[in-house]
Amino acid sequence: MLKINIGRSMLFLGLICSTNLLPQTGAMPQLTDNAGSLPNAAELLAAREQGPTPMLDDLRELCDSIGGRPTGSKACDRAVDWAVARFRAAGIESTWTEAYTIPTSWTGGADQAECVAPVRFPIRVASAPFSAPTRGGHALEAPVVNAGDGSPEAFARLGVRARGAIALVMTPEMKSEADLFGEYGRDATMFAAAQNAGVAAVLMQSSQPRVLLYRHPVAFSGTLPIPAAIVARVHAARLARLTERGEVRVRLDLPSLVGGPIEARNVVAEIRGRERPQEIVLIGAHLDSWELGTGAEDNGVNAAMVIDLARSFKALGIVPRRTLRFALFTGEEQGMLGSEAYVLRHAKEMNNHVAMITFDTGSGHTLGFYLNGREDLRRPVDQALAADPDLGPFEDSDEIIDGTDNFDFLLSGVPNLIARQDFAPYLPNYHAESDVYEMVNGPEAKKNAATAAVLLWGLAESPKRLAPRQSRAEVEQLLRATRLDEQMKTLGQWDEWAAGKRGASN
Ligand SMILES: [Zn+2]
Repeated sequence: MLKINIGRSMLFLGLICSTNLLPQTGAMPQLTDNAGSLPNAAELLAAREQGPTPMLDDLRELCDSIGGRPTGSKACDRAVDWAVARFRAAGIESTWTEAYTIPTSWTGGADQAECVAPVRFPIRVASAPFSAPTRGGHALEAPVVNAGDGSPEAFARLGVRARGAIALVMTPEMKSEADLFGEYGRDATMFAAAQNAGVAAVLMQSSQPRVLLYRHPVAFSGTLPIPAAIVARVHAARLARLTERGEVRVRLDLPSLVGGPIEARNVVAEIRGRERPQEIVLIGAHLDSWELGTGAEDNGVNAAMVIDLARSFKALGIVPRRTLRFALFTGEEQGMLGSEAYVLRHAKEMNNHVAMITFDTGSGHTLGFYLNGREDLRRPVDQALAADPDLGPFEDSDEIIDGTDNFDFLLSGVPNLIARQDFAPYLPNYHAESDVYEMVNGPEAKKNAATAAVLLWGLAESPKRLAPRQSRAEVEQLLRATRLDEQMKTLGQWDEWAAGKRGASN
């Protein structure tokens, strides 16, 4: 996941051919056949989720035995098969995969960098997803120029010295989510200025302390034509100091592979509703991750949670009025491509998608939910959450989010919610080598699962639908009123929306 904040909106960041088994109606034990008479279902679910379920063991297996799993990798395929097996082992017979195609693939290689003059020392680098490899896969050696904060003015000051050079861009250390937004927010103008200046490559100083590296995607539709990488914070600082004394030369080898279309799969499982099975409440989390770490906070913990929620409903024999659908999307880190594919594939069913809930901020405490611009969701969401008063208090936000798997549901007018989570455990490990199992706050993750279960139950059981589906005109009005349109334009998403390629209309 990835996120950017522009004005009031925020970005998280994160053809269909079928190998699916059609969803089957499983024989589901029912607590009661008396509709709605399950007064303690929410409490039962919350208690179970906070008790000893296999959720954290699942997370450990996903992270340690499968590991980092970029979409298109063998590890991601293994994770998909593993998730199907886990749903089935939980007794969810109705589990299937849905294949789709990703137009452009990018795979990181064995990146290497070395300062070769005035003194030799190794430099830690991690290539930026969707940036070009160095010179067709061979190392590049060039002088380093300090491009400061990467602004067009800073590149302009370098003048002709930038041509053919490796531009070093300095980054403030990440202290808050605003710094993360800032790091993504500068990319469009920075890379435009870098290309304009004719640089050979861009090295971006890591915003994380010491030598910690992470994946920083630099394009979401297509690829960036110049090589780019994150460089360890302390190494960037040393290079910057050396440039004040004379010529500094760096040898850079970023053998990334940019390839053609690849096939990916989402995992979907469901528990058919007892009274209105055609109506669906969907909870999703992305299963894919970057691979320097093992994708624990982003987003293995929430993928394991989605499996655990299905397991708990099944184990307790709780069958709500509406169908519960559990989705593990892939392609999220490439621009929410798995959830986009889901929405396109199920376009005709979107009228029946009563609500979509996403968790994508690791194990941070759930403070409430992002309503994504829909104030009409606040009351029913709070009512559902109130079923277990021990879990709150919650405070929802009307902010609108572009950058995780709710996005194509939002564009389709489906009421959509994102857990508003504390960033503390998530931020220092964002896409980083340190995004590993032991960084996850287990008790908070279990509590988040309890919150998710209570909300899921409430939305799936309520006699009334959460809120109406918005028309395309209403969605467009929302996008403009919240200025999400501007962000979509920056990210190259607006044209797809305007052309009707993204978002299913009713
Ligand atoms: Zn994510």
